[in-house]
Amino acid sequence: MSDERCSFDVIVVGGGHAGVEAAAAAARMGASTALVTHKFDTIGVMSCNPAIGGLGKGHLVREIDALDGLMARVTDKAGIQFRVLNRRKGPAVRGPRAQADRKLYRLAMQSEMGQIANLKVIESEAKAFVLEDSRICGLQLSDGRKLKSGAVVLTTGTFLSGLIHIGNEKIPAGRMGEDPSVGLSADLQKLGIGLGRLKTGTPPRLDTRSIDWSGLQMQKGDSDPLPFSTLTKDLPNPQIDCGITRTTSDTHRIIEENITRSAMYSGQISGVGPRYCPSIEDKIVRFGERDGHQIFLEPEGLDDLTVYPNGISTSLPKEVQYEFIRTIPGLENAQILQPGYAIEYDHVDPRCLKASLEVRNAEGLFLAGQINGTTGYEEAAAQGLVAGINAACMAGGREAITFSRAESYIGVMIDDLVTRGVSEPYRMFTSRAEYRLSLRADNADQRLTPLGIEIGCVGTLRQGRFEKKLEKLQQAKALLQSLETTPSKAKAAGLSVSQDGMKRSAWDFLSYPEINMHKLTNIWPEIAEIELQVAEQMEIEAGYAVYLGRQEEDIRAVKRDEAVGIPNEFDYGALAGLSNELRLKLERARPINLGQAARIEGMTPAAITLILANLKKLQSAEKIRKTV
Ligand code: FAD
Repeated sequence: MSDERCSFDVIVVGGGHAGVEAAAAAARMGASTALVTHKFDTIGVMSCNPAIGGLGKGHLVREIDALDGLMARVTDKAGIQFRVLNRRKGPAVRGPRAQADRKLYRLAMQSEMGQIANLKVIESEAKAFVLEDSRICGLQLSDGRKLKSGAVVLTTGTFLSGLIHIGNEKIPAGRMGEDPSVGLSADLQKLGIGLGRLKTGTPPRLDTRSIDWSGLQMQKGDSDPLPFSTLTKDLPNPQIDCGITRTTSDTHRIIEENITRSAMYSGQISGVGPRYCPSIEDKIVRFGERDGHQIFLEPEGLDDLTVYPNGISTSLPKEVQYEFIRTIPGLENAQILQPGYAIEYDHVDPRCLKASLEVRNAEGLFLAGQINGTTGYEEAAAQGLVAGINAACMAGGREAITFSRAESYIGVMIDDLVTRGVSEPYRMFTSRAEYRLSLRADNADQRLTPLGIEIGCVGTLRQGRFEKKLEKLQQAKALLQSLETTPSKAKAAGLSVSQDGMKRSAWDFLSYPEINMHKLTNIWPEIAEIELQVAEQMEIEAGYAVYLGRQEEDIRAVKRDEAVGIPNEFDYGALAGLSNELRLKLERARPINLGQAARIEGMTPAAITLILANLKKLQSAEKIRKTV
């Protein structure tokens, strides 16, 4: 067992969204864990928008929950407006989202961290890695202390050489009011890790008392708010409304007139920003012809006077921010509590990582979160969870755990990152997942909790609840499949099906879009006994059954390819017939299996066949060697 004062199985650097999940996951897996972060008080801080989830991102949060991570539970404790986005579309693309009370979120996360056994939070700054032959063996802290560990997870977010821009003002910072992290970037470069610069931005914060809410359209949350976590029974907070307003032609004119004063358009920022989350300057330059851009005015908390105007992130000088804000209906007298700003920071090229999020050529060093070129709390948290699990596995001498893109959005994201790298901040969307009919937010627990139980990162409470739920789902499905009737009887009960004389089960009927569980009770009253959540799951599964059946063959093919491992030292130079371009791409990506190799941009079926043939040759040579 490790010495609790300076030696740990796993050390996590950074108490942001990636860091907390990494530390909690490592500790749940039984590793003695230290979380080194600047301040305990900033654990769980939401640097930008006070909201969790959304399209694609909501799926990640549900998957984190399925593996007993913290984000979903904490959001339920802090949520003040819950909405399922795309409610009218199919279940596969629905995205749970919650606006959170910023303070409650931070406090709930800190309380969770305080309750985890095996976890010690150390308030300090990690200054340098302690290495032995490119193998990590500890950390040097800025206060002079040295910590020992064979596994370190680095989750420094936007802090690595962070630089804030407001107009032409530049402030070295990790986010507003917090010092950047310098030094570690140089250490990463010494390890041969490629660094790049990315940027993101945030809008000015407004004083609610200075907003004229009277004429604004208001948006309510769902009348039946749905918790994120399967462990949450009741949501504790009252639900609030958001205001909606729009930019005007005057707003656009002022921004256009001052565009060269924006840090982003004056050539001061070299980093690439998130295309899907553009600043208001970007929107005006790229979509100037639009008559207005929507802004959601989101209160930051129940007892907080701050309002987050979602949609107008900016790096214009403060006086210009004032000028354009006041051309927006409802904001004519708005007071700015904190100006909007852009931030540039170092990130690594994630192609230097294995699917376990360990750095290929620095054994024991794992990276997770914004440092890997992603943007968003949910993307960070999901990576943190994976890195924490794998750091604990390494400490315990266990095999790495990787996630397939056929099974989870977590797998899709990590595969995208390590195979393709990033050219702009990576954000999750449902369109990134090929198998989104089966990777739904509603079935995340069924997809991932069994794995979590198997690897030991799911606690007994969740395990017990999950097993009960699974039993209910299985019983309900068996019941629906056992109840049968003829088309004529179905018609008499008001169900319109083809009168072909074929008996159908209740499950079969449920696959018709216009038939739901309620309608089935006209024929089989016992169906009304099935509890609501289970009934909803039955409707979704039966509705998708035909499509899921078709998708299964594709998923099997992906898994077949993923089961063919490629050794790290595989010699692509020895493959006669492989183009130079593909050889270079393969050497750089070093795919761990054939599936990953196939997903490298520009890869051809012929090249995959060549690799497979050579792997087979190697395997038979190995067999011959063993028998001699
Ligand atoms: P962070 O949440 O940044 O946490 C990093 C943690 O590491 C901090 O606790 C810090 O104290 C600690 N740390 C750093 N260096 C050290 C060190 N050397 N030693 C000890 N501790 C250290 N996301 C969106 O999805 N949409 C947006 O519009 C958006 N806008 C943003 C605007 C701004 C201005 C910022 C700053 C971020 C924005 N984000 C946005 C990104 C979002 O905040 C991040 O994606 C998310 O917080 C990343 O989580 P993380 O855990 O990787 O890092």
